[in-house]
Amino acid sequence: MKTKHDIVVVGAGPCGSYAAYSAAKLGANVVVCEEHNQVGAPDHCAGHLNISSLKRLQIPLPQSIIENEIKGANIYSPSGKEFVLRCHNPVTYVVDRGRFDKHIAELAMKAGVQYRFKSRVKSLLFDSGHVKGVILKEKEKIESSLVIDAEGCSSAILKNTGLAGLRASMTVRGIQADVEGLEHFDEDMVEVYLGRNVAPDFFAWIIPRKDGTAKVGLATSTGNPQQHLRSFMEKHPVASKKLQKSKVNSILAHPIPLAGPIPKTYSNGFLAVGDAASQVKPTTGGGVIFGLTCAKVAGEVACEAVKSGNFSEMFLSSYHRQWKRLVGFDLSAMLMMRRMLNSLPDSRTDKVIDLCKRLGISETLKKFGDIDFQGRSLIPMMKYPGTLAVISYFLYSWLMSSTKQSFF
Ligand SMILES: Cc1cc2nc3c(=O)[nH]c(=O)nc-3n(C[C@H](O)[C@H](O)[C@H](O)COP(=O)(O)OP(=O)(O)OC[C@H]3O[C@@H](n4cnc5c(N)ncnc54)[C@H](O)[C@@H]3O)c2cc1C
Repeated sequence: MKTKHDIVVVGAGPCGSYAAYSAAKLGANVVVCEEHNQVGAPDHCAGHLNISSLKRLQIPLPQSIIENEIKGANIYSPSGKEFVLRCHNPVTYVVDRGRFDKHIAELAMKAGVQYRFKSRVKSLLFDSGHVKGVILKEKEKIESSLVIDAEGCSSAILKNTGLAGLRASMTVRGIQADVEGLEHFDEDMVEVYLGRNVAPDFFAWIIPRKDGTAKVGLATSTGNPQQHLRSFMEKHPVASKKLQKSKVNSILAHPIPLAGPIPKTYSNGFLAVGDAASQVKPTTGGGVIFGLTCAKVAGEVACEAVKSGNFSEMFLSSYHRQWKRLVGFDLSAMLMMRRMLNSLPDSRTDKVIDLCKRLGISETLKKFGDIDFQGRSLIPMMKYPGTLAVISYFLYSWLMSSTKQSFF
């Protein structure tokens, strides 16, 4: 195996593999270093992905990866009021995240990317202020002209460069149980449960698979996630009835960064993508689609750098500008929404859900809503009096509840 590569990618998650694939497809020599002994394990995700975004990214999925096709969501307010958003056709897939990650890694391997497993990157190699490769845990050095950091949300490698890491204050702790024996649920709808007692500063979810099993999870900013999950499954007035005969087969836990992207995602010989750069939707915690969108740009810019022999941060800043153009507005809008949502007391969240129901917002959402590009889909919706009323109430509630908080 060659020890000098054009590009080293740290991490074989979806973003690392997709960045590697995008660069290798254009001719770069790429190696991915993954600390585990295989791609896709351990899994730490619900795998709920927007079908139209996967199409836009041109990632067709083999049927074996798709666990379910979802037509909408039943959203439960803190007091248990239900708001139903059901579309005619499937809008999202539930995917097997392990297999999804393997699928992207296989695309990368076919494009010529090499994978090194059990290869934990301990730190970066530097030469005259430029990143020039990585040092593995076993002290082996792998030289390269550029490193793409796709290590996920640990920020360990990122800190080596002096770039600002993820903001711990807005990182929630996610937990998810794989269950069987769920009752009284719609097979083609996900369920979202709001409430400060249910999941402080986030929400709980039930995501069904076609085979009758489901992913039941939540994320929380405070308290013990496991206790919150137990309480949700055993005591929530709506969810507990569906889960009372269920059996938990496994549990996973992982942080979710919700503070919006880190301020700078590049330096000399270095790019950060995916959770490592916090390219995660602050409203829903979904990081796969935007991460892949940015990873594609990272791979392309990295390959351009290889071809031009220019790895300076000035050259690589083009990556930052390009991904901001693609998803920057939506990430900023969603961060604002997350902050507003976090500031609302349960009584006001109840009222927002009630208004959505009474004013028939589901029709406007079906027409214009996009679970990924939530910022830009708000703009056409504002033309509709019902939506405008809900947004106005939401803003009013936030203003009333945020007097004690600093928004910026
Ligand atoms: C409970 C939960 C549910 C979620 N549900 C959804 C969802 O439904 N939809 C959605 O879009 N997103 C969801 N997310 C978020 C999603 O999982 C992440 O945004 C996504 O995994 C980010 O991909 P990534 O490639 O950036 O990082 P990761 O998937 O975290 O991959 C990072 C990889 O890097 C490796 N690595 C780390 N450090 C090193 C090192 N030093 N050396 C070598 N290898 C290293 C890791 O082993 C891992 O393989 C969820 C997250 C959680 C916690």
